[in-house]
Amino acid sequence: MNLPEKEIASIVKEISGSDVKKCMKCGKCSATCPAYGEMRFHPHQFVSMVAKGRVEELMSDPTVSRCLTCFACVERCPRGVEPANVIAAVRVLAERGQGGTRFSPDEVPALIAADEDIPQQALVSAFRRYRK
Ligand code: SF4
Ligand code: SF4
Repeated sequence: MNLPEKEIASIVKEISGSDVKKCMKCGKCSATCPAYGEMRFHPHQFVSMVAKGRVEELMSDPTVSRCLTCFACVERCPRGVEPANVIAAVRVLAERGQGGTRFSPDEVPALIAADEDIPQQALVSAFRRYRK
């Protein structure tokens, strides 16, 4: 993604709806995170790096996928920062950065035929995630 770091950081904030500047660096999010040992950057570090515009570094880190999206960090944060949503936003940017649209409407009928119980929400979510 060829954008200045500051611009990427502001996109992350826009996608996540989270105000990383409200973080008071208490570390409660990391203390409660079940994936703490699996992630190179722990939730409080993640938030701090986005606040500083260091998003490219996070996007290229494969351990970002270890976040379980359990929202324990969101529950615990006394400032309403929502680290899980910040992490999810970086993941979305990293996936979009892999190039091109990777999910076409033409694929939907086959997916439904293969599993008629597939939740509609899963398809909508895939469109949001995998289409530019
Ligand atoms: S949502 Fe991710 S970062 Fe937050 S506590 Fe759960 S595993 Fe950790
Ligand atoms: S719990 Fe909230 S305020 Fe504390 S370090 Fe994590 S994001 Fe920042």
